[in-house]
Amino acid sequence: MTRGPKVAIVGGGIGGLTAALLLSRQGAEVTLLEGRDRLGGRIAFEQGGEPAAQIDQGPTIVLLPEMLLSILEEGGVERERIKLIEADPLYRIHYSDGRMMTKRRRPEDQAKEIERLFPGESEGYIRYMNQMRDMYPGAKASVLERTFPRKRDFFAPRQVRMLGRLQAHRSVRAAAARYFKHKDLIDAYSLQSLYIGGQPAGTPGVYSILPYAEHDFGIWMIEGGYARLPVILEEELRARNVEIRLNTRVERLSVETGRCRGIVVDGVREGYDAVLFNGDFPNLLPLLEGQPEANRKKPYRPSSGCVMVYMGTSKRWEDTAAHQFFLPESLGDSLQAVFERGMIPANPSFYVFNPIELDPEAAPEGESLLYFLIPAPDASRISWAKEGRRLARKVLQSAERRGFPGLRDSIKWIKLRTPEDSRKDGNYVGGSFGIAPILTQSGPYRPQPKPFQTIDGLYAAGASVHPGGGVPIVMQGARMAVNQLLKEWNP
Ligand SMILES: Cc1cc2nc3c(=O)[nH]c(=O)nc-3n(C[C@H](O)[C@H](O)[C@H](O)COP(=O)(O)OP(=O)(O)OC[C@H]3O[C@@H](n4cnc5c(N)ncnc54)[C@H](O)[C@@H]3O)c2cc1C
Repeated sequence: MTRGPKVAIVGGGIGGLTAALLLSRQGAEVTLLEGRDRLGGRIAFEQGGEPAAQIDQGPTIVLLPEMLLSILEEGGVERERIKLIEADPLYRIHYSDGRMMTKRRRPEDQAKEIERLFPGESEGYIRYMNQMRDMYPGAKASVLERTFPRKRDFFAPRQVRMLGRLQAHRSVRAAAARYFKHKDLIDAYSLQSLYIGGQPAGTPGVYSILPYAEHDFGIWMIEGGYARLPVILEEELRARNVEIRLNTRVERLSVETGRCRGIVVDGVREGYDAVLFNGDFPNLLPLLEGQPEANRKKPYRPSSGCVMVYMGTSKRWEDTAAHQFFLPESLGDSLQAVFERGMIPANPSFYVFNPIELDPEAAPEGESLLYFLIPAPDASRISWAKEGRRLARKVLQSAERRGFPGLRDSIKWIKLRTPEDSRKDGNYVGGSFGIAPILTQSGPYRPQPKPFQTIDGLYAAGASVHPGGGVPIVMQGARMAVNQLLKEWNP
């Protein structure tokens, strides 16, 4: 019997964990090396209070649940082990004049809500859903489920037709404007590019599948928090005797005669048949020092960062929604400051996560745990130690006024994370979501699961690698990297 490949996975984020599951299931001998003292990367818990309570630090929204569950199943993790709770309503959007739109799963309910707030616009919504539903399978197959080793593959005639229908040449915001008239409604169907750190007015229209997918596949939460996921995956990997080495930073990759043949840890070389890199992709280049591939002339553009506020409160906020967006008078101006001028906006937008709405046990009785996410520039130009606190104060004041009366007096514990913390965690320039999802860094222009045609045996998965960021999408990228690795494995 031929042996499977001996593979080193560098990084235990969701991309690395998914790759470890899929590879070990296929008989590979896997070693997972993680620089930190825990697995999960951006999927983690933030803890506070006495006794300690915990709330998700990063992802909160499970989109495309079927993609997530089917990949786990392929990796040998049964669906029943991931308990999903559906969000209904999906979320609420608070406009600056006090109007509130509730997004609903069922198209009939959503059409009614749109008609209530934006008379005459429900027809555009129905057209939007019908067209997106029709395009989604093709878009998934031609963008999310294939790699682009050669750029010209992306421009094959069938592919170009699909991209045209998906409005790839326009922005997500301009694509939404083809269905909706009122600027607030256009915001409601384009702000989703912020989930992947992209400016709605600068992210290619193919990402319009995000606002569509929320209605057709729902928004879900993992019982106990998203950060339960890496815990479950670690249990499975350990049960399979996959070697997991925490507190182990890979310093260099060993490339000889056009093939990656191992890694260097603490100055010592370890040999492998193949290496899969799951750190933030731009950080792979320094590990290839001495190789021509390490020299990139044009720097990558990072995604936006975010200032995060986590807190436990002595008050329990019920009858809201688990997910809420609070928009300023002009979301466009606010995001232009963040994305185009690299500045903290005078009127920030923010998102609030209140998990007890879906999982009453997510906070101690009579209390709430809240998470505020404020889109912000990356860590390149702002002194975040001071500015982070100032921005957080402003947002909490606004939240108190717009939906959480008595918020600040009820705070039992509070924690802040800024783009500088994100940078220290290894995210490129402190961007939270991988390299920016702009046209020149999407599809064939994003690093591919086999990033260099000139280096065999080296693969990559993660938010900065095609098809991009967001948990299920990263998992799908890891799946493509694993398939290519196994296809090219030649004992
Ligand atoms: C605030 C926030 C909110 C988000 N919300 C959502 C959401 O609601 N829904 C959603 O789907 N997605 C969301 N995301 C995005 C999602 O979290 C990411 O796309 C995904 O977790 C990235 O996974 P990854 O595989 O790229 O690995 P990462 O999480 O980046 O982990 C990489 C790991 O590799 C390790 N590593 C790097 N270099 C080395 C080295 N040289 N040696 C050893 N180890 C190394 C790092 O320590 C790290 O643990 C959110 C992200 C953030 C920050």
